[in-house]
Amino acid sequence: MRYLDGFPCLVDAKCDAQVISVDNGLKHPNVTLLLNAKVIRFVTNSKGNEVTQVEAEVEGRKEEFSSDIVIIACGAINSAALLLRSANNQHPRGLANSSDQVGRNLMLHNNSALLAISTTPNPTQFQKTLGINDFYFKEPDWEYPLGHIQLMGKSKWEMLRGDAPFFAPRTILQYLANHSVDWWLTTEDLPDSNNRVSINQQGQIVLTYTPNNLEPHQRLLQKLKSILRKERKQHRGFPFLWLLSKQMPLAAVCHQVGTCCFGPDPKTNVLDLNCQTHDITNLYVVDGSFFPSISAVNPALTIIANALRVAEHLKERLG
Ligand SMILES: Cc1cc2nc3c(=O)[nH]c(=O)nc-3n(C[C@H](O)[C@H](O)[C@H](O)COP(=O)(O)OP(=O)(O)OC[C@H]3O[C@@H](n4cnc5c(N)ncnc54)[C@H](O)[C@@H]3O)c2cc1C
Repeated sequence: MRYLDGFPCLVDAKCDAQVISVDNGLKHPNVTLLLNAKVIRFVTNSKGNEVTQVEAEVEGRKEEFSSDIVIIACGAINSAALLLRSANNQHPRGLANSSDQVGRNLMLHNNSALLAISTTPNPTQFQKTLGINDFYFKEPDWEYPLGHIQLMGKSKWEMLRGDAPFFAPRTILQYLANHSVDWWLTTEDLPDSNNRVSINQQGQIVLTYTPNNLEPHQRLLQKLKSILRKERKQHRGFPFLWLLSKQMPLAAVCHQVGTCCFGPDPKTNVLDLNCQTHDITNLYVVDGSFFPSISAVNPALTIIANALRVAEHLKERLG
């Protein structure tokens, strides 16, 4: 039980994608799940307006699939990469990319973790229970949005190892993990067409990303630190407080969105409002790629809500 949050639940008590969607989906006789299957590229008809073949590696073997409707949901980075890798004579810049927008406007959030470490132990099991939006839109000396603050799942000492000096002893890391209250701060990053996913000559994914909107993030961090320091002064059981913060680097792409923005204009958007690609009539992208902007809250619920909306559309389309 102690290892829930980012860890799977061994008794299926957690409402994650496996328990809620995959396991229930597999109860239907017309649903098949292929494990260890990676889609490599799509092939289109000679007009280039329909996907006719999906090429995949299943358990290391090449296999081909076809379907009336093809839905990509590989996450914002991999979905864009898949479209770019599927370039052909009709789509030389990549599939569904007549707008040259596939892969662009990658957004990741400005995220920071803050560990507030005191001499008082924190034995909590399920820490991720508080969200603070008091500074979401503005604060008295800053008229622009700062963002969102929430508690994280409880840090374990093993997780602190990656950011600690190699010589840091386990006992110190265990002390830090057992005495920390762990916070997560999120500020919106803004869509920038130069922040993008591309593919190099070896077919590898390249991320080009220059962070923006950093000042409000620093202000949010300082805000939380000053609140915690003030709290320490007022609280006798909190005699010592050490604040350790780290802004997440590019490698932390956990909140990836954008890359195939939706909108009515095929010149400036990859997807239409139903998340069908403007260029290819039977191809949909239904993951975080459609976001035109990211806001400052976690993206999964919006991705799920949109997928349900698109599912309603597909039900109507298929009659
Ligand atoms: C540690 C962590 C904690 C998070 N916590 C939160 C949170 O608390 N709240 C929140 O809202 N969000 C959270 N997120 C973010 C959230 O998980 C994502 O925003 C969300 O899962 C993205 O959904 P998606 O459908 O776009 O892609 P994903 O959920 O990433 O699904 C993409 C799937 O496609 C598969 N795939 C990729 N390429 C291929 C291919 N070529 N062929 C076949 N399959 C492929 C992948 O294996 C994956 O299963 C967290 C993310 C991480 C990493």
